[in-house]
Amino acid sequence: MTLSTLELDYDRQTAEGATCTARAWARVPPPLSRPEREVLMQRCAELLRAQGAALVAHYYVDGDLQDLALATGGCVADSLEMARFGRDHAARTLIVAGVRFMGETAKILSPDKTVLMPDLDATCSLDLGCPAGDFAAFCDAHPDRQVVVYANTSAAVKARADWMVTSACALDIVGHLHAQGQKILWAPDRHLGQYIQRQTGADMLLWQGACIVHDEFRGLELELLKERHPRARVLVHPESPEAVVRLADVVGSTSQLLRDVQTSAADTFIVATDNGILHRMRQLAPGKTLIEAPTAGNGATCKSCAHCPWMAMNALQGVVAGLEQRTGEIQVDEAIRARAQGGITKMLDFVAQRAR
Ligand code: SF4
Repeated sequence: MTLSTLELDYDRQTAEGATCTARAWARVPPPLSRPEREVLMQRCAELLRAQGAALVAHYYVDGDLQDLALATGGCVADSLEMARFGRDHAARTLIVAGVRFMGETAKILSPDKTVLMPDLDATCSLDLGCPAGDFAAFCDAHPDRQVVVYANTSAAVKARADWMVTSACALDIVGHLHAQGQKILWAPDRHLGQYIQRQTGADMLLWQGACIVHDEFRGLELELLKERHPRARVLVHPESPEAVVRLADVVGSTSQLLRDVQTSAADTFIVATDNGILHRMRQLAPGKTLIEAPTAGNGATCKSCAHCPWMAMNALQGVVAGLEQRTGEIQVDEAIRARAQGGITKMLDFVAQRAR
């Protein structure tokens, strides 16, 4: 099997607040033929059943993995629901199909479970762009602020935070802290931070990270696309630049955007988030027309294809290897895990309380 390796640039901040460009890589497995996929799907299902394991998949991963998760009693969800599902499921082994911080979050919440990933090197530009040492120094320089970090961070960064949030609950939690008169130190996504700041009016000091996928959506091109589809409803994930968010009919997390496609009376949608979500959107709203939002894109780099190269590292082969050979096991240092658990548990308790 030939793997292709991509080189990617991402934004990285230092403790002093300066940003620089750094380089990362992603290793993408080649596409499989239909017969190969069918054989692997069946093998994965047998292994999951035999080992009593649960597959927890993100909306951005390959459609086969999403289908497999649903067919075998696992889940396909956003970061918030993945965390909850993994914590509450009785399985002793979780296979997390997503990126590394999602596997770490599962392990932090379920230290007694074995957490495997199809590829442990599947990372995230937000995580990479917020190194724990620099982040701790930045926090130390601003001790008067509540530290709120996005889920897309390492366990060590979460261990330094007061709260962890996902895009599904970030507005509510920052709004709650703002109402208490708290000042916020936010990391790492600058676009999501700016959006929350505009919506809540909170005093937020922002880390300057970005998602290499959402950062590529462009307002001008989106306006032109809207002119061609005047009845289309525009759905935008808030990791996108402000010029894109301002054109949205709905700004929300992946699960909130999915819900809108299902419940809105509109029949055409322009979707500004990773195009992996279109698989589930098509399943849940089969009669609707879904159009990908434009990226910076004629450069034809992976950055501009609206699909995360690290999410693309997740493949059926990795699930088989994980279950057969116990490869890809997530380990988190116990002292870091225990500290990181505090901010995640606060978020889950807050969301549960709001839902009552
Ligand atoms: S889509 Fe963006 S935020 Fe999500 S894992 Fe990939 S790089 Fe990170």
